[in-house]
Amino acid sequence: PIIIGIESSCDDTGVSIIQNRKVLSNIIIHQKIHNKYGGVVPELASRLHDQNIARAVQKAIFSAKIHRYQIDAVSFTLGPGLIGPLLVGASFAKSFSMGLDIPLLTVNHVQAHILSHFIQNSNINNSYPEFPFLGLVMSGGHTQIIKVNDFFKMEVLGSTLDDSIGESLDKIARMLGFCYPGGPMVDFFSKNGNEKKFVFSKPKVNGLNFSFSGFKSDVLQFIKKKLKRDNFFLKKNLSDICASIQNIIAEILLDKIEKAILQTGIFRIVLAGGVSANHKIRNSFISFSKKNKEFEIFIPKKEYTTDNGAMIAITGLLKYERNLFDSIHITPYSKFKTF
Ligand code: ATP
Ligand code: FE
Repeated sequence: PIIIGIESSCDDTGVSIIQNRKVLSNIIIHQKIHNKYGGVVPELASRLHDQNIARAVQKAIFSAKIHRYQIDAVSFTLGPGLIGPLLVGASFAKSFSMGLDIPLLTVNHVQAHILSHFIQNSNINNSYPEFPFLGLVMSGGHTQIIKVNDFFKMEVLGSTLDDSIGESLDKIARMLGFCYPGGPMVDFFSKNGNEKKFVFSKPKVNGLNFSFSGFKSDVLQFIKKKLKRDNFFLKKNLSDICASIQNIIAEILLDKIEKAILQTGIFRIVLAGGVSANHKIRNSFISFSKKNKEFEIFIPKKEYTTDNGAMIAITGLLKYERNLFDSIHITPYSKFKTF
């Protein structure tokens, strides 16, 4: 089947068309307006989705080289996310499904980040992970370890108790003087840095949960203190600070994953979400699997880490194959719901 996927949970309008598991087109319209505000402004995001969505859909159909009548079903993000932006995507998807008389499929955004690994050639492993596996979702809104028994049989084993990993990185990045989203900038500037130069405290959280707000405050306090003594502290140490932050974050993630592996006996790890684009985190997990040959680590290609329409389309396709259709009366939700 040919499925169109519409993603509008945050600040990017993503529309993709896939046929079976192959991506025919994957269009993303980024909203630059938020850069200067240090975070996404929900009302502005809704308006821009509204302005861009029809164009994104047209572009996706055009670059897929298909006619719209060939599309078998429409899938869209139902939640979690910003409610205004979600409503824009939902309204468009519903009208599209009515207009073409094709079924409607709704997608949980967090589930979709994980299921993006079932798009053909979407990870650097060039293979689909076998069940069961542990999904590590690291994104702007979530940080979770999820036991995945089957496509739609998922169980959250651990979550962040406060900030998500992406959120704290973005806030730290803002303090360092980067625009929103700062995660990619920290990554970029870390490349020639000495990652052992600064040591920040690791949060102590029981079980498989995470906490990043203490870590974030620790970094922010440290920088403030240094800046009081030396105005040029940041300028002189930017690369080393970025590298040191990432080094600790990678350690926090690996510690938890080791724990999860011990607890579940599952050796297959699937990384997902925007922060999994980070080169230090990717490399740490790759060396981890090289040291422990029985571990299998699945790493998404960069274009499938941050929000995209293809992950919504693949989740839609997997639902389509299982007849998991939805009614036009369904409404979006903003907060994370268990699967
Ligand atoms: P959610 O999926 O939880 O609703 P979201 O959709 O906003 O949140 P994503 O698009 O998955 O989140 O990821 C965005 C986050 O990824 C941002 O916080 C951004 O800073 C971070 N990010 C993107 N690239 C990198 C990178 N190379 N290094 C570190 N962080 C990155
Ligand atoms: Fe996301």
